[in-house]
Amino acid sequence: MSTIRKKLIAGNWKMNKTAADGAALAQEILAQVGRETAVDVVLCPPFTALESVGRALEGQAVKLGAQNMNPQKSGAYTGEISAEMLRTLYVSHVILGHSERRTYFGDTDAFVNQKVLAALANQLKPILCVGETLAEREGGRTLEVVRTQTQAALAGVTAEQITTVIIAYEPVWAIGTGKVASTAQAQEVHAYTRSLLHDLYGAALAQKVRLLYGGSMKPSNAPELLAQPDIDGGLIGGAALEAKSFVELVKAALVAG
Ligand code: PEP
Repeated sequence: MSTIRKKLIAGNWKMNKTAADGAALAQEILAQVGRETAVDVVLCPPFTALESVGRALEGQAVKLGAQNMNPQKSGAYTGEISAEMLRTLYVSHVILGHSERRTYFGDTDAFVNQKVLAALANQLKPILCVGETLAEREGGRTLEVVRTQTQAALAGVTAEQITTVIIAYEPVWAIGTGKVASTAQAQEVHAYTRSLLHDLYGAALAQKVRLLYGGSMKPSNAPELLAQPDIDGGLIGGAALEAKSFVELVKAALVAG
């Protein structure tokens, strides 16, 4: 349990939900936890549902996040979305460096770093994803991969900015597979990530940065994960697509405090 860091539950809807379906899901979630302020809740619909979900969230405590953005200000980048475009839709958070982007769309550490800096320059809070593949874990390289990805993504991020960055540890082998990291595996990487932040920014700031776990988190395994000293919330994929399971996760975070 942490008294310094408020727990955060973010739903990554990936390429699911139309504008209308997204607004309906948001309404269902809001009806149950819309006024909850003891836990931060962020919904990350696809770009095409940001406006309708944003409208549903107006005046509520639940925040709006995007799943990606391009670091350029504007210009000839067909199919891309800028930070400013997200801001005009009242987006406050943006998922960056998700393993699906790294794997299917070629996002490199350097590109993720550009995105993190651009997000921060535009007052968007990055939810930076890092994590190892199964081969990397089995090769004993988990901490090295997490270190490389974290350090690269945070290059140029100032001490003033770091507390607005949220880091999600998402072991690639646990995403959408039903295989969850054990609490010991997850806590080990979270504690290691905090030690990296300690080295980069000092003890006080390292204690303020929220570290989320992501990878098949669901109501049945969340309480144990959220009770770990360095796990400050969850980035949720599959279980975020239905109000019932997502609300249960928010409630688990409330209990874990
Ligand atoms: C994710 O993709 O961010 C994720 C954690 O997915 P799932 O919960 O479905 O494993």
